[in-house]
Amino acid sequence: MAVTDDPAPDQWRIGVERTRAVPAQLKSFNQTDADAARTHGMTAACLDRLTDLGLDHHREGRERLFDDRDLANIALLLGLPTPLRRTMSSWSQTLLHKAEGTTTRRSVQLLAKCPEPGHAGACEYELNPAIGRCSVPGSLHERQAGRYTFQIETPNADHFLGPEHGEFVARMSAMEFHFIPPALTHDLDFATATGLADCRLGALLARQVATALGFEVRPRNGYFLAGPYMLWHNWIEILDGDWFAVDPFWLTTLARWQVPGIEAWPTVRSPQPLLWQPADEQDGRDFYYLLSHNGAPMRPAMMSAPCRS
Ligand SMILES: [Zn+2]
Repeated sequence: MAVTDDPAPDQWRIGVERTRAVPAQLKSFNQTDADAARTHGMTAACLDRLTDLGLDHHREGRERLFDDRDLANIALLLGLPTPLRRTMSSWSQTLLHKAEGTTTRRSVQLLAKCPEPGHAGACEYELNPAIGRCSVPGSLHERQAGRYTFQIETPNADHFLGPEHGEFVARMSAMEFHFIPPALTHDLDFATATGLADCRLGALLARQVATALGFEVRPRNGYFLAGPYMLWHNWIEILDGDWFAVDPFWLTTLARWQVPGIEAWPTVRSPQPLLWQPADEQDGRDFYYLLSHNGAPMRPAMMSAPCRS
């Protein structure tokens, strides 16, 4: 992937403007210059330029402090060499996977790390029983405490939305991805007013837009099968003969990030083969936690790869 050394001046200004759409009182100014360099690939000169353009920050003595989300958003927009940007190149394995047959079987590895090292007693992990119901029967094994493997099957549905969905696709493709604070992640007015959304807010907006256009939709949440680490994701399904995942917002976002392989996924294509919803139909609740540690829900690392046939 091309890493932009000198992004267009406009991008710097646009990046700062977008961060200013989020009220400063919803930010945490705790990132130093050193943090910005380490996590977001930003030099001091880069931060000077951004503060000149009006990037929110606090001063504490000689230190200037930035909001982590602001920096992450700008780094993404500018294409800076961040850890997230580096993982994107491995997503192409999923995007370019040649599907054979009606489903693809994947092996999943679920790996928990103790969230409170040093606590009294042993780590007691408990898997959400829904995993047993939505994995390939007999494939679930506990390898050691907090480490499980199982297999899933995802449909290779090759579905494209038609012209009747054109307005829905256009409106969702016009949205820009932005990490936003939890206080705004259900705020449809914020999304509409700013044109910014994260996956969760994007899925809420997609539901609102598609419903207003007269389509039957249902919310979904689960994982984007990015390789090797799976990403928690929210999307919707639309009734188009059958139920199909649709996500023009996310596909547009991946195209803007120039993720290799995204050419195969135009915004009108159903990303069904790239997604896994770990709940079954009956309980369709917002199912966020696959695992608990000593009774407290936690989110483990999830890795997946297509099984060799
Ligand atoms: Zn523990």
